[in-house]
Amino acid sequence: MELAHRDIVYCKGVGTKRADILRKELGVITAMDILRIYPYKYIDRSRFYKIHEIEDEDTYVQIKGEVIEWHTIGVGKAQRLSATFTDGSHTVELVWFKGVQYVKLQQHTPYLLFGKPSRFNHEYNFVHPELTPWNKVNPEMTQGLEPYYNTTEAMKRAGVNSKAVRAIILNLLPDLKLGVPDVLGADILQKWHLMPLTEALLQVHFPKDTISMQKARERLKFEELFFIQLQILRQMKRREQAEGFIMPIVGRHFNHFYRDCLPFELTNAQKRVLREIQGDLKSGKQMNRLLQGDVGSGKTLVALLSALLAIDNGYQACLMAPTEILANQHFATIRELVKGTNIEVSLLTGSTTRKQREILHPALRAGAIHLLIGTHALIEDEVLFANLGLVIVDEQHRFGVAQRAKLWQKNVRPPHVLVMTATPIPRTLAMTLYGDLRVSIIDELPPGRKPVQTFHYSIAKRMSINQFISQQIDAGRQVYVVYPLIKENEQLDLLDLQNGYNELCETFPNYRISMVHGQMKAKDKDEQMQRFVSGMTQILVATTVIEVGVNVPNASVMVIENAERFGLSQLHQLRGRVGRGADQSYCLLLTKMELSADTRKRMDIMVATNDGFRIAEADLQLRGPGDLEGTQQSGLPFDLKIASLSTDGQLLEVARQAAMEILDADPLLEDERNQMYRRQLDLLRQTVTNWSDIS
Ligand code: ADP
Ligand code: MG
Repeated sequence: MELAHRDIVYCKGVGTKRADILRKELGVITAMDILRIYPYKYIDRSRFYKIHEIEDEDTYVQIKGEVIEWHTIGVGKAQRLSATFTDGSHTVELVWFKGVQYVKLQQHTPYLLFGKPSRFNHEYNFVHPELTPWNKVNPEMTQGLEPYYNTTEAMKRAGVNSKAVRAIILNLLPDLKLGVPDVLGADILQKWHLMPLTEALLQVHFPKDTISMQKARERLKFEELFFIQLQILRQMKRREQAEGFIMPIVGRHFNHFYRDCLPFELTNAQKRVLREIQGDLKSGKQMNRLLQGDVGSGKTLVALLSALLAIDNGYQACLMAPTEILANQHFATIRELVKGTNIEVSLLTGSTTRKQREILHPALRAGAIHLLIGTHALIEDEVLFANLGLVIVDEQHRFGVAQRAKLWQKNVRPPHVLVMTATPIPRTLAMTLYGDLRVSIIDELPPGRKPVQTFHYSIAKRMSINQFISQQIDAGRQVYVVYPLIKENEQLDLLDLQNGYNELCETFPNYRISMVHGQMKAKDKDEQMQRFVSGMTQILVATTVIEVGVNVPNASVMVIENAERFGLSQLHQLRGRVGRGADQSYCLLLTKMELSADTRKRMDIMVATNDGFRIAEADLQLRGPGDLEGTQQSGLPFDLKIASLSTDGQLLEVARQAAMEILDADPLLEDERNQMYRRQLDLLRQTVTNWSDIS
C-alpha cells in the first residue's frame, strides 16, 4: 500500500500503543507522516577524535582508547563512578552518577567512547558516555552521519526515543526505495535543481555524505517554503479580484474629532500613513495594510482616525488586541478620546459575561455599536456585525495569514484590514507573515520625547537600584518591575515573581504595589492594572503580559529582572513601556554576574541604542533559528518543520518566485497540471495548529 495511505499502526516496530503516542505527540497518522519527521541534527560517526582535539561542549565525539583506572566516590544514592580514559597520549575523565553498579570496566581493553563532552573546572569530561568494547563495535555504528530526532517527554516515557524513531524509519526503507509520488512538479525540480522527493527522504534520514544530506534538506525546505508562499500568494491573487467597500467620505465624525477632540497635533508621519490608509479605503479594492511604527509612535490614534473614516461611511469597525490588558486599555483610551462625540464604542473579551453578550450581540447586529474593541474573541463565529467595514489588528505578529483569512467571513465582502505592529520585522518574516500586505511606516516619534536611558547592572547592585527606585517614586513617578515567564518553567517563574513582589513590599513598606501575571483571573488582572494606571499604586510587578502596548505615561522606570533570559526584541518592547511622558525615563537591565558572551552583547546593544530596527537586525543575527519561529510560527499558514525563517532567507525568495510563476499563469490553480498543488495545500491545511490554541 502506498506509504501515504498506510496507517502508522501497521508499520514494523510500531503497534497500537506507540501509534497512539505518535499521533498525539507529533500528529503522525500514516507511514508517510513519520518519514516527514526530519532529524534535527546528525552526528558524524565517521570521524574519530583525539582527546586534545575536543574544543567545544556541544559536539558529540567518538574516541578510541582504554580505561586506565576507576574508583567510586561517595555511598548509596550519591555514589558516583569516575574513570580515567586515555587515547594513548592524553587523558579525560568519565563520570557516571546513575546506574553505577551496571558499569563494567576492564583494563587493557580497547573501547569506543561516544558522547558529548562537558566542561567542569576548566577541563572537559564525559558524563554517562557510551562505552563499547572495540570487538563489539558494529561497523555501521561508525559510519556516516547518524540522524537524531526530536522527541517529547511523553514519547520518551513510552520508549519512543530518537533511536526508536530511527528504527521505525529504517524499517520503511525498502518501501521508500520503491518510490513515492512527488509533491513538486518535474518542471520545478528541474528549474531549481532540486532533489526528487524519494531521494530527498532517503538522504535526509540516511545520508550518504554531508553534501547529499544538505541537498536533501534544501529540497525539503524549499518544498515547505514553496507551499507557504503558494498559499499566501494565492490568497493575495484571490483578493485582488475581490472588490472592497468604497469609503470615499471624510465626514462628520472624523472632522469633528479632528477639530475638537484631538489632544495634540499629529506628527507628519501619522498624517502620511493616514493619507495612505484613506487612499486604500476609497480605492474600491479591499485594503490589506501593515502599519509599522516603533513603540510610542502613536499608532492607536491612527487606528482610531481610520475607524472614524469607516464609521463616517456607514460601516462598523473593530480593533483587536492580543491581550485582555491591552484591549481594556484601548477601550479606556478611546472611550476617553471620543467622549464629546456620539460614537458608540464597546468591549468584547474572554471575560465578557454571557449576560453582557446578550446585550452586546444584538446591538452589534443592529449596527448600534460603531466600534468594537476586544481580543481574538472578536473573530469567534458567533460575533456578527451589521456591516463590518474595517478590521484593525494591533501589536500582533501572531495574527498571521490564517487568522486574517478568518476575518473575511465577517461580511458579504471582506472588510478592509489594517495590521499594526511595533516589532520591526526582518524581511524574510515580513514576506511570510505579511507577504500579502502593503506596508506603511511611522518613522517619527511625537515631539518632546526624551530617549530612554538604559543601564545594565548585576544584581549585586540591588541596594543602589532600590535607592534609585525610591527617588523616582518620591519625585512622583511610577515604576515597572518585570520578571520573565516561560511556559516550560512556569511554576518556578511565578515563584520568582511572587518572591520579588514580597521583597519589594518589605523594602518599600510605604509604597503601594500591584502585581499582574497571566495566570490571574482577568478580573483581578484588570483591577491590579487599573490601580497602576490610575496612579494608586506606584510599582507594578509583572510578567511579560505588559510587553505589548500598555501605556502609562507617568511610569518612568522599567526594571527588568533576569534580563539575560529575554530576547532583544522583547527587551526593546518592554523598554518601550517607559519614555511615554515628558519626564526622563530609565530602563534598568538586571542580570546575574557571570554572563555568556552572547548575553553580554545583547545587554551592550540595549544600552547603546534605542533604534528598533537596529535591534531587530542584531536580534536576528544573535539568535539562532528556532527562537524566532517559536514565537512567530503560529502566524504562518502551515507549520515549519525544517525550514527556518531566520536562516533560509534566500531559499524563501526562490520559493516565493517559483510560487509566483505558477500563480501568474494560473491565479486560481485551475489548470489540470496544478491540481497536485491544490491537493497538497488542502492536505497541509488539515495539519495546521488549531486557531483556538492561539492566544
Ligand atoms: P504605539 O505606537 O506604541 O501604539 P501609542 O499609540 O500608545 O503608541 O502612543 C503613545 C503615546 O503617545 C500615547 O500616550 C499617545 O497619546 C501619545 N501620542 C500619540 N500621537 C501623538 C502626537 N502626535 N503628539 C503627541 N503625543 C502623541
Ligand atoms: Mg500600541
